[in-house]
Amino acid sequence: MRRKLVIGNWKMNGSRAGNAELLAGIAAGLTASGAACAVCAPAPYLAQCQAALQGSAIAWGAQDVSAHAAGAYTGEVSAAMLADFACRYVLVGHSERRAYHHESSELVAKKAVAALAAGLTPVVCVGETLAEREAGQTNAVVREQLGAVLEAISAGDVAKIVVAYEPVWAIGTGKTATPQMAQDVHQVLRAQLAEKDGQAAAGVHILYGGSMKPDNAKELLSMPDIDGGLIGGAALKAADFLAIIHAH
Ligand code: PEP
Repeated sequence: MRRKLVIGNWKMNGSRAGNAELLAGIAAGLTASGAACAVCAPAPYLAQCQAALQGSAIAWGAQDVSAHAAGAYTGEVSAAMLADFACRYVLVGHSERRAYHHESSELVAKKAVAALAAGLTPVVCVGETLAEREAGQTNAVVREQLGAVLEAISAGDVAKIVVAYEPVWAIGTGKTATPQMAQDVHQVLRAQLAEKDGQAAAGVHILYGGSMKPDNAKELLSMPDIDGGLIGGAALKAADFLAIIHAH
């Protein structure tokens, strides 16, 4: 049985004061019956997350990582630096990075490898655009995106990744995939994980992301292959994030 996992993606939001309030609110409302949870904060706030959350049930992580280990890569943040701040997770291949920063599946795979090498759990984000869904290409698109990562990692590392299915047309739009639509894609992804390591695939968390909110979380989380959520907008309010964590 996979314990549900709910990860907040703050994107480029927050301030020291606002984060302190949000983290205190989450910590105050979290109960043992909730899902495992984490927040992925902007890099400058990782030290604040570490100070506020160390020893708590809330893990923290980053939203991106360099594919390079160290050196002359101005502006980039390495996986070792994230590990230095005790990050557990790092998002790789979020659709906003793929779209606005032209990240290819090959680059995303290199980032996942770099994260694993530093002992971090890469949250590999995959998802189709509306045009791709309408053209019947959903499964092919997500398989290509996950496939690049699976090709780059060893079978022994399959158990060390998290996958997030985030249909691009559902992110920040208020439109959500129906539970069955999401389940169908999650099943495809789990089958693909099993092609690499049949045993590990059953234990890998596959999260759904895309306008998951308190009022639709329970239905989505009830599907057999939806193991949690990657939450954008609703992760910025403690009450909403807590409601999703406790929705299953
Ligand atoms: C996201 O950015 O990962 C996301 C799922 O955003 P939202 O929940 O706002 O759709």
